[in-house]
Amino acid sequence: MIKFLDLQKVTAKYASEIHEAVRRVVDSGWYLQGQENERFEANYANYIGTKYAIGCANGLDALILIFKAYMEMGVMQAGDEVIVPANTYIASILALTENNLVPVFVEPKFNTLEIDDDMIESAITSKTKAIFIVHLYGRCAYTEKIGQLCKKYNLKLVEDNAQAHGCYFGNQRTGSIGDAAGHSFYPGKNLGAFGDAGAVTTNNKVLAEVVRALANYGSTRKYVFKYCGRNSRLDEIQAAILDVKLKHLDDDNEYRKDIAEYYIKHISNPCVSLPVTMDRRNNVFHLFPILCTKRDELHDYLEVNDVQTIIHYPIPPHKQECYQEWNALSLPITEQIAQQELSLPVSPVMEMGEVRKVVELVNRF
Ligand SMILES: *Cc1c(COP(=O)(O)O)cnc(C)c1O
Repeated sequence: MIKFLDLQKVTAKYASEIHEAVRRVVDSGWYLQGQENERFEANYANYIGTKYAIGCANGLDALILIFKAYMEMGVMQAGDEVIVPANTYIASILALTENNLVPVFVEPKFNTLEIDDDMIESAITSKTKAIFIVHLYGRCAYTEKIGQLCKKYNLKLVEDNAQAHGCYFGNQRTGSIGDAAGHSFYPGKNLGAFGDAGAVTTNNKVLAEVVRALANYGSTRKYVFKYCGRNSRLDEIQAAILDVKLKHLDDDNEYRKDIAEYYIKHISNPCVSLPVTMDRRNNVFHLFPILCTKRDELHDYLEVNDVQTIIHYPIPPHKQECYQEWNALSLPITEQIAQQELSLPVSPVMEMGEVRKVVELVNRF
């Protein structure tokens, strides 16, 4: 069986370092808001290339905290609009609706699956406060045009970097391009914890302070509460584990790129289209999405041949039951992607022989 992602194997690679880090925290008697958080935050900010990184409980909270902070700062208000890709994971949308901000869905390009920067300007209104981009599947969604639109209309640029740790745009890492970015360290992400974890990165000192306070009950001093905050702290154990795995992230990402390169070179089935191009800087291949009009048959064919694949995502956010107010929206490109997308396995522990087997099967389908 070729697993979509073998987390046991991913962990085994760094087991001794991780055991040592976990033991250190267990023995320390200090489990929250300590040295491990401080160290990981400093190393992660340095890695992403921002002045600040603030650990928090998970990726969704990271995104919620950014927008909540902007509201506390008076930059945004309930009812304001935020441009967001229609093709994304539900968390990106929840971060807005949780704050009573209005998502304005913009279609992706069919050949990149990322937000179509030609469609953004016509979606901007007097209520628009931000463009929220998602580096989906590990690919950089930022373009110079998006940056120009933010300047022209005085909009904040927020990044969802949950799937793209280590990815670049030019010389900048994703997560350092905009005004703020949310990161998820869900176990299956390129940088994954042993449970839930997340972070916010930014160069804005005020935003960093407000996010940090909001993640700790709205408190800046013990038992003094400036905001109605939440409890969204990063555990010391998770911070210690993440700090170990961060050291290996670039190597792991390079291996993902080798796999992607092999897929791109060798997949030749005319029924399959590759919305991915080989770019070792602008893509860290969190996922390897392909499009196929016979997607469900291909999925089943691979499954009976012992290859696990996953659909990202079968139902777009605007079609979900929780968002009935948008169910009638027509977003044909996003909907077509939901019908045709299939993610092939890609991970730092996949053997090259397994990659070859996946290619053979896809081509034989
Ligand atoms: C995983 C993910 C999130 C949310 O992260 P959690 O840590 O699971 O809360 C947000 N956005 C995208 C695009 C994701 O893939």
